[in-house]
Amino acid sequence: MRPRAGVEQAGESDLGCQRQNNEDRYSYWEPDSDADFRLKGRLAIVADGMGGYEGGQEASRIAVETIEQTYAASPQDPRTNLISGFRAAHQSILEHARQNPVFHNMGTTSTAIVVLDKNLYYAHVGDSRLYLVRNGKIGRLTRDHSYVGRLVEQGIILPEEAESHPQRNILTAALGAGAEISPESPESPISLESGDILLLCTDGLWSVVREAEILAAVSEEAPESACRRLVRAARAVGAPDNVTVQVLRLA
Ligand code: CA
Repeated sequence: MRPRAGVEQAGESDLGCQRQNNEDRYSYWEPDSDADFRLKGRLAIVADGMGGYEGGQEASRIAVETIEQTYAASPQDPRTNLISGFRAAHQSILEHARQNPVFHNMGTTSTAIVVLDKNLYYAHVGDSRLYLVRNGKIGRLTRDHSYVGRLVEQGIILPEEAESHPQRNILTAALGAGAEISPESPESPISLESGDILLLCTDGLWSVVREAEILAAVSEEAPESACRRLVRAARAVGAPDNVTVQVLRLA
């Protein structure tokens, strides 16, 4: 889908160098009608699935589709609609796993943003990340729902140690895992400015490509070539995992 004027958007998802399946997924959505667009804005999602057989791919696909459909159909404010989407996706994955026991351990991260006028709303579960680049600086808006993320927050290990920690893949929250999920979502939107760049990515990118390199790519290039450059950078260091990145740049 081509975005309406006001943002430049691109995404790229790559198998990486060692995996057999790409369990990541991303999407970009806008309503068809201008009237709906004024109410709903733009929705961008990145999800990173996990689980044996084809479970990971299925989980990230269900999450992205369910969040989109629920967001589009829900009548509340963007944040409430996003959270409804996450809850619906969680239930849908649980139900899918119940009906297909081979998928019993399926789950997925999800990071979703809505840009409406100059406001940013977001929700996330898991360790896919959202960054905001403004005035030449990069800042991370999400915290990782992972075991090592918790260790870093508690000061037990350093951020650099987390990157190579043997348990870095253990998530503390995922869609489709556990009875309840509580998506993390700020109560008030963030005010966006002209020229702001939003970047969503899976751990296959951020665990191997440094923030300085992410900042350089999105600052120096348009979203489409920035995404390609970042995937290339991950592959250049062996990309052990699937690599997914989506970039929105505000006009
Ligand atoms: Ca991953």
